[in-house]
This record gives sequence, C-alpha cells and structure tokens, in this order.
Amino acid sequence: MGATIITVDEFDYFVFGATGDLAKKKLLPALYHRFIDGQIPSAARIIGCARSPLDTEGFRALVTQALSDNASGPIAPASLSAFLALLVYQTIDVGNPSDWHQLVTIVNQTRDDRITVFYLSVGPSLFEPIVKGLKEHGLNHTSRLVLEKPLGFDLASATHLNNLLRESFDESRIYRIDHYLGKETVQNLMALRFANILFEPLWNAHYIDHVQITAAETLGVEGRGGYYDRSGALRDMVQNHLLQLLCLSAMEPPASFDADSVRDEKLKVLQSLEPLTDQRALDNSVRGQYREGDGMASYLSDIDKEHSQSESYVALRANINNWRWAGTPFYLRTGKRLRAKMMEISLVFRKTPHFIFNHVAAPIQPNALVIRLQPDEGIDIEITTKQPGHGGMRLHNTVLETAEAPHKANRPAPDAYQRLLLDVVRGDQTLFMRGDEVEAAWSWIDPIIAAWRDADYPPEIYAPASEGPRGAVGLMSKEGRVWREIQ
Ligand code: NAD
Repeated sequence: MGATIITVDEFDYFVFGATGDLAKKKLLPALYHRFIDGQIPSAARIIGCARSPLDTEGFRALVTQALSDNASGPIAPASLSAFLALLVYQTIDVGNPSDWHQLVTIVNQTRDDRITVFYLSVGPSLFEPIVKGLKEHGLNHTSRLVLEKPLGFDLASATHLNNLLRESFDESRIYRIDHYLGKETVQNLMALRFANILFEPLWNAHYIDHVQITAAETLGVEGRGGYYDRSGALRDMVQNHLLQLLCLSAMEPPASFDADSVRDEKLKVLQSLEPLTDQRALDNSVRGQYREGDGMASYLSDIDKEHSQSESYVALRANINNWRWAGTPFYLRTGKRLRAKMMEISLVFRKTPHFIFNHVAAPIQPNALVIRLQPDEGIDIEITTKQPGHGGMRLHNTVLETAEAPHKANRPAPDAYQRLLLDVVRGDQTLFMRGDEVEAAWSWIDPIIAAWRDADYPPEIYAPASEGPRGAVGLMSKEGRVWREIQ
C-alpha cells in the first residue's frame, strides 16, 4: 500500500545553478516527480537562477530535456506542461549587484509569508557571494538555505563557512544536504533500530564483533579530476557520507524523532571517535590509487597529471570510545574503479560462545545484519539454518530479506532528493547535517590527513575492477577479520 500523499504549502524554490549538472540530473527531476505525485501545489514556483543567458521559455526547454534524460518512467505531456508552468528563470551573475535587484522583484511578487527556499547548487566558491547577496538584499530573514557538499575543505574552512552562514541565517533555517540520509534504506535503518525491540539488546559490543561500511564505485573520477584531486576519497566520501552512516548505525536512541534530538545523538558519536593522529593514523588507514588496466585509464591519466599523492581509495579502522562500542571497531572503505558498485553497512556478529555442530564440514559464517543501499536497497539478516532434506544435520547460510526491499515490491526506491527537497519545504531538518556535526567530522578527519602529509605516506597502487589495495586486506586480517566481498 502506498503512503498517503499530503500536498505541501505553497512555496518559491530558488535554485542557484539551475542549468548545472546537479540541477538537471537530480533536483529538477525530483521536483517533477513530487509534482506529478500531487505533493506540490500548482501555485508553487520553481525559479531557476544561473549565469546562462536564458529566458523562462529557454529554461523550460532545458528542463524538458533534463527530464527526458533523467526522470524515471514515461512523461505524460499534460503533467509535463503543468510542471513547466511552475518554472521561472532569472539570469543572474551573483557577482553583479544589478542582477540581484531582479531577483528581489521576483521574491516580492508573492506574499511575504510564503515559504521561500534558496538552494545553492553551485560550486563552493559561490557560497559566500550568494549568502552575502541574500543578506544584503534582505532575502535572509525568513527564508531557508540549502547547501551541498563540499562543506569546507578542512576544519578551518568549514568553521569559516558555518560562521558566514550563521551571520545571515538562523541554524534552524540552514539545510546541509547529505543525500545519503535521504535514501529509503537509511531511514529504514532508523525504523529498524528504534521501532523494534528485537535488535536493540544485541546492538552493542557484547554481540557485534565489528561493523563494515562500504561505498564502492566502478567509475573513475569522470571529468571531476580537478576537484577530486584536491579532495581525495577521505574528504570527498568519508568526512560526510560514511561518517553519517556510521553515526546512524552507532548512535544512542534519541529521546524523540525530532531534528535536534537525532542530531544531538549523532554529534555524540562523532565526538566519541578515537582520534587518529600520527602513527595511529598510519596504522589504521590505507590509501590507494587505481592504475590502468582492462582498457581503463589510470587515475593519473584521468586527472591529466604525471604525479599525484591523492587517494582514489581509502580504508579506515575507527574506534568509538563509549560504553556501547568499546571493543567493536568500525571499518570504513570507499573507492573508485572497484569491482562493483556496492554500498552497504554490515554489522557482523560475534561467534556463538560454544559451537555444538563440530562435525559440520562447511564453514559457518557469523551472523550479519546487512543494510544495503546499493545496488538494490534493502535489509538482509544472514543466519545459519539446517539444509532442508535428508542427509543428516547439515548447516548452511541463509539470507532473510526484509519485505520492505523496494525492488522486491516492484517499485523503485524514490531518489533521495525527492524526500530531501520537500523536507526543506516542510521545515523538517532531521535528515540534514547541523553545523556542529560537520565541524566534529572535520576535527576527526584533519589529523589523518596531517599524518599522511607529515609521513609523506603515498597511496598504494591497485588494479582497476579489483577489491582495492592489498593493504586494506591487511587492515582486517591482522585482527583475524575479512572484508565482505565487493559484488
Ligand atoms: P555545474 O558546474 O554543472 O553547475 C554550476 C552552475 O552554477 C551553473 O548553472 C552555472 O550557470 C552556475 N554559475 C556559475 N557561476 C555563476 C555565477 N557567477 N552566478 C550565478 N550562477 C553561476 O556544477 P554541479 O555539478 O551542478 O555542482 C553544483 C554543486 O553541487 C557543487 O558544489 C558540487 O560539488 C555539488 N554536487 C554536485 C553533484 C553532482 O552530481 N553534480 C553531486 C553532489 C554535490
């Protein structure tokens, strides 16, 4: 049975960077899908703002093409024209003061109490001029501001950005997107943990041996070489997405499901991470860089450089120093050009204290709870059961899949942006990062980068379409553990 659709209040959604890649691939298709599902009222406006010299008709043509390329399912002409009627376009170079006056005119065309959102789908160098422009023109008093990663490059720049934002917007109106948090299964992880009694007694170091969080990609840096090489996998993926997943897996049950209760608990997890400094950072991290092979170019050719110390792969072992998790490491890994596209959180349980089926030849895997984000979203419980039939007491590994896996129910999981874009309109910040979380994450990441730099610690070369560098295997095997297969 589908969820009841409740239409949100009328709004103006200003998308800075509306002609860019993110807007075309994700934001505009997400708004279109929510519109055709009846969640967006026909009096809403979506105002594209970008430097490209277009008029509204030109923008509508651009959006029509973007939807044909990126929306899921067939597009009915009547729904399309109704959606296009919501669109307005304003050319603006945010560095040009006279362009701002035209934006103010558009804002003033509707009632003062209308929900107004400014989405910054632009490179981070434009955050400052846009936020200052909004303040200077009085557009910051009641409106909401949405930003995308990268939210800083290190702790100092993230703090600078937070200070800038807070000079113009109250924290309750700042929405920092980590689109992983909008994924159906990530929300299901919270439902699983906090709406059931079954798992909570086991959700601790007494029963969980370790946790693995993997985000593996098959693609290389794909035209983002300039940005990526300055960033590397640790900044690009771990500081935000992987640490957010770690927080949701490890946090204490919040007092309620409101934004600050959830974010307070996530913050405590980040603050409990054991610092990885100097030698400890080197002992608990592995960096890699893909080489050429199987007809695919190397990282260095992809970024068009002869040398680079940046990592396209990183694996880390993290300890959370609190009562729940002391003694249960969290292993994080992410990389490009790996064997398969796979994203999952796996809680691997301890072995039974005494095993009575010693005559069973087949190796028995420990129990695992696997929260799969990609390729198919869903939650699996891996247990051991008896092989059916004759032949004595033979055991095998069985996977229990939750009924909620969207692909099993023959309906694709909605894209995370669909949920998040309308959460902004609803004023719900639960799935967005608070400024202090972003800073706490950078506080943990910065010393790792400093240790690599000080030790001149080069990335280990790995083959494309592999599981990553061999050193990552060692990070696990030195403690008698193995990574789950990337498949
Ligand atoms: P893009 O380069 O494709 O688009 C940039 C947009 O900014 C264009 O619409 C351009 O007209 C506009 N712009 C540039 N200079 C301007 C100016 N002076 N005044 C007004 N508008 C100006 O970038 P993108 O890939 O869409 O990424 C946007 C942001 O989202 C970046 O911060 C990126 O890191 C982040 N992001 C992108 C993706 C993605 O899938 N593309 C994913 C996650 C995060």
